[in-house]
Amino acid sequence: MQILYDSTRGGETGILASQAVLNGLARDGGLYVPSSFPRLDVSLESLAEMDYRELAFQVMKLFLTDYTEEELRNCINHAYDDKFDVPEIAPLHRADGSWFLELFHGKTIAFKDMALSILPYLMTTAAKKNHIKNEICILTATSGDTGKAAMAGFANVPGTQIIVFFPKDGVSPVQKRQMVTQKGENTHVVAINGNFDDAQTGVKKLFGDRELEKEMDRHGIQFSSANSINIGRLVPQAAYYVYAYSRLVKAGEIQAGDPINVTVPTGNFGNILAAYYAKQIGLPIHKLICASNENKVLFDFFSTGVYDRNRPFILTSSPSMDILVSSNLERLIYLIDGCDAEKTAKLMASLSGDGKYEISPEMRKKLEDFYGGFADEKTVAETISDIYRKDQYVIDPHTAVAAAVARQYREKTGDHTPMVIASTASPYKFARSVLHAIDAEKYDSMSDLEQFDALHHVSGVEIPEAIEEIKNAPVRHKTVADVPEMKSTVCRMLGLQ
Ligand SMILES: *Cc1c(COP(=O)(O)O)cnc(C)c1O
Repeated sequence: MQILYDSTRGGETGILASQAVLNGLARDGGLYVPSSFPRLDVSLESLAEMDYRELAFQVMKLFLTDYTEEELRNCINHAYDDKFDVPEIAPLHRADGSWFLELFHGKTIAFKDMALSILPYLMTTAAKKNHIKNEICILTATSGDTGKAAMAGFANVPGTQIIVFFPKDGVSPVQKRQMVTQKGENTHVVAINGNFDDAQTGVKKLFGDRELEKEMDRHGIQFSSANSINIGRLVPQAAYYVYAYSRLVKAGEIQAGDPINVTVPTGNFGNILAAYYAKQIGLPIHKLICASNENKVLFDFFSTGVYDRNRPFILTSSPSMDILVSSNLERLIYLIDGCDAEKTAKLMASLSGDGKYEISPEMRKKLEDFYGGFADEKTVAETISDIYRKDQYVIDPHTAVAAAVARQYREKTGDHTPMVIASTASPYKFARSVLHAIDAEKYDSMSDLEQFDALHHVSGVEIPEAIEEIKNAPVRHKTVADVPEMKSTVCRMLGLQ
């Protein structure tokens, strides 16, 4: 079955998967969605016999139907190799009555590596297939992890440039160091005087700038996106939920066909939407539990049907979730609104105008697959400390938001369906917050380097290569810009003036 893609705002229909990957965002500002959902065409039992690559192929081929088998397998084999520090790629760890799906064993020790290790291959393959002669410039806003993972994937890839915007004071020290020390002649990093939403809105504006598009085309360059608005990010993410399920079957923890629940620490709504896509193709997921930090726009949305970003932007210990405009929610809105692009476009116009919108009671009914929860900073710290003391398992603050909400969910509902928690970052990436939660008095005064050793001691987990790399690496990127200067900065970096 050929799957084609439509814009959530109606301006484009019948787009091939490879074109959607290349374009990133539709020209009308909408997001590409599959015009219908495929179904897994292998049994849940047989998935248990496959390794990560084979299983990823079985999932991704359903969505990326204009890639040949050879092309897709080639992308997968290059992505999921020994860049990951465990052969399972995404292992499960049992703790706190749940299964933690560790998605942080890639190069930059956050879950973004799961999709961004393969996106460059999907994109260069798509460029070849579509006879694109232009150089592709990846334009990306990051709340901390996407930027580094995207640069790690695209650094020195021929025919590409990558420009990353991050909120200057809105990322962790390790995240910042990882970005400003990035190697590769085609990588560019800009610290923005603003927050993630400012960066993301600015990037979307550049995508919609037709004058800039023409100027770039004259210079033989075109934009694409490595943000989770790109369908080439979502599809690889759906694969690991299927993988988690298959490992539980393989281990005899569940029978093929049994339901599981999934809790996802959420920011831009990409990761949890991928779980929802996995459900649509036939994975038996009962509830999708959406965990927010103190920027709890999504919790309020699930409880009231009103999405309202008019509120203070709070900097938390889980910076990659400090987001008030969750881009990928647009894809869910479109689905629960009966794939009515006109209505979706209206709601999104109201979001960019008034900063809010309200969905109808009929649409709310279709959200029953979801449960929204949130954890404040105190609860996050207590959860880290509690799970460490009880199970000697150290989790990062993002994962802790999810673990706390998973606990709340079980307590409130009495639903004890096996729970998979998306574990989105290595604790090493947020060593300071993690050690502060475990024993502030003992660890707060330590230097960053001392903290890495302390965390090694506490967790028994080897210090990842990603941390070793930044210890002595020279700073290569020093550009700082105000939000209105984003366009001129891009022009300068691409040599357009
Ligand atoms: C990006 C990120 C999230 C949020 O994921 P979304 O797909 O944006 O919802 C959560 N945790 C970590 C560590 C991240 O990097």
